[in-house]
Amino acid sequence: MTDKIQIAVRVRPFNDREQGEDNIIFMDGGKCSIKDPKSGGIKNFHFDKCIWSHDSAGRTLETNEHVFESLGKELLENVYAGYNASIFAYGQTGSGKSYSIEGYPPDSGLLQRICEAIFERKSQLESQDENNSVTVNVSYLEIYNEKLKDLLDPTEKQLKVFVTKKTGVSVRNLSTAYSDSYEDIVSLLADGKKLRIVASTNMNKTSSRSHAVFTLHYMEKSMKDGKKQIIRSKINIVDLAGSERQASTGATGQRLKEGSNINKSLTYLGVVIQKLGENCKGSKNFIPYRNSQLTHLLSESLGGNSKTIMIAALSPAALNYDETLSTLRFAQNVSVISTKTSANVDEEA
Ligand code: ADP
Ligand code: MG
Repeated sequence: MTDKIQIAVRVRPFNDREQGEDNIIFMDGGKCSIKDPKSGGIKNFHFDKCIWSHDSAGRTLETNEHVFESLGKELLENVYAGYNASIFAYGQTGSGKSYSIEGYPPDSGLLQRICEAIFERKSQLESQDENNSVTVNVSYLEIYNEKLKDLLDPTEKQLKVFVTKKTGVSVRNLSTAYSDSYEDIVSLLADGKKLRIVASTNMNKTSSRSHAVFTLHYMEKSMKDGKKQIIRSKINIVDLAGSERQASTGATGQRLKEGSNINKSLTYLGVVIQKLGENCKGSKNFIPYRNSQLTHLLSESLGGNSKTIMIAALSPAALNYDETLSTLRFAQNVSVISTKTSANVDEEA
């Protein structure tokens, strides 16, 4: 089965720096428009979902609950049917990627809501029949300066992405943690976040210059027509580093060097997406997944066995016009890509 990568764009409220700016983002159904603040010209884009979280003047302001209802629930149905799934958040620093993925209390993000729903299913299935079981293992890593770091284990280890036909993408030496409850995951995430390298730029004090990848391995054993059925799937949830070009962040020295390496992963993400898009229209490009850690790690999410969602995070403010337009264009490039999916369902003899 082939599946188009689903694209959702989400526009956030003005931040403190943007108060008094013009809003340049408009949404109407699946149409998202952006206004050039200089010329007043409008450019229109079409996506699977446009999520309005800018203001509540005259319309509903959509919360993370809505994001989960409209994106997370469908993704979980796929996971329970044995499909791999991926969500990645793209956009400039401060555009709202982490808000959608991790959330900010009390509005918890997609990641937490997905985990919560999985543990609800676990207790439901396990209480129905003593032969039923759901097993959850997670890993959490960061890509920073083209280096992988295990966020669940502070000891220095050489992590390496590798791909096998049978199990797809894996990371050598990456720890996985068995999780018995939602609370387990919350505490793993909190510990993992402490290990993340967060650097400050002019754009945003809490700006993250690294990519964070959370992976959940789901295994469900249940009785079906008198036979034991095993469903295995994997969810990748990726909070990408800011997509801004370094010139506009005022980064210099060490930060600039980091910028160029972070751009290496994001640059190759762009290259891979461009080439995959051409292949979906009949070209036979070689896809250079291995040219960056990010594309290597995401190769399944982008071109392999995964149902994939991208959330493109948008600033509403005129001052971010160039970056926001480039995010919309990136999202449009992704929207033509399809992945080939198959369910991982086995019967136990
Ligand atoms: P990013 O991860 O893209 O750098 P963040 O998610 O940290 O950006 O968001 C930047 C700021 O904007 C944060 O203070 C966050 O609380 C706020 N913000 C982002 N999206 C929303 C939203 N949908 N509703 C309310 N505030 C938001
Ligand atoms: Mg962030």
